[in-house]
Amino acid sequence: MNLVGLCVAGIGVLGGTFDPIHLGHLRSAWDVADALSLDALQFVPSYQPVHRDTPQASVEQRLDMVRLSIADMPNWSVNTSEIRRGGPSYTIDTLSHLRQQVGSDVPIWLLLGSDAFEGFVRWHRWQEILTLANLAVMVRAGAESIDCSSTNALMAQHETVALSSLQVAGMVRRIAVTPLAISATAIRAEVARGKLPHYLVTPAVLDYIQQQNLYQGI
Ligand code: ATP
Repeated sequence: MNLVGLCVAGIGVLGGTFDPIHLGHLRSAWDVADALSLDALQFVPSYQPVHRDTPQASVEQRLDMVRLSIADMPNWSVNTSEIRRGGPSYTIDTLSHLRQQVGSDVPIWLLLGSDAFEGFVRWHRWQEILTLANLAVMVRAGAESIDCSSTNALMAQHETVALSSLQVAGMVRRIAVTPLAISATAIRAEVARGKLPHYLVTPAVLDYIQQQNLYQGI
């Protein structure tokens, strides 16, 4: 998708390991795109996540599963910048690159589950992230109360800013998403127990997990 000259309510960016991508990611992304009237949404599979263990599926397999999941959505795309860059995947690098592509007038919204947001102030150069993007905090099932003093302070400070204007970066908004208690960890465990994750991933991803013998016997 050509992002240059996009009009605009904004672009959403959802990063993750997507090991595998599931309906919790997809429905939440849909809810945020709808709530903020986003023009486009990018899914960013990490190459080497810095806040967690190495994914079990390969980069290619995780990328395939994302592509399969969003194939029918015209304004949704995969951003492969972390994969192309290699090495540790830092969100600041991804957003800097995207900001250069879209220019300074387009709001960028970084979508984060409430669990991820709780750790946000430990992210590499997190203050700079807020100069490049707004945060859309997706209140995740089972993590409804964000219980972390530093992120609460951040939320309070930046939510006030949010009331003042529609900014291209620096706002933090909490967005209620359809509560789906689905996690990739639980899906991998289910497959390892010999069960198929019906209705937790798209049918295409379900087929792919079977074809590639993913997550078995772990
Ligand atoms: P894992 O169980 O392996 O930790 P995950 O299901 O949390 O994986 P990630 O790829 O790590 O998936 O998540 C990417 C982003 O999507 C994170 O910001 C995470 O908080 C968010 N997210 C994941 N699952 C959901 C869900 N069910 N509802 C809302 N947000 C979600």
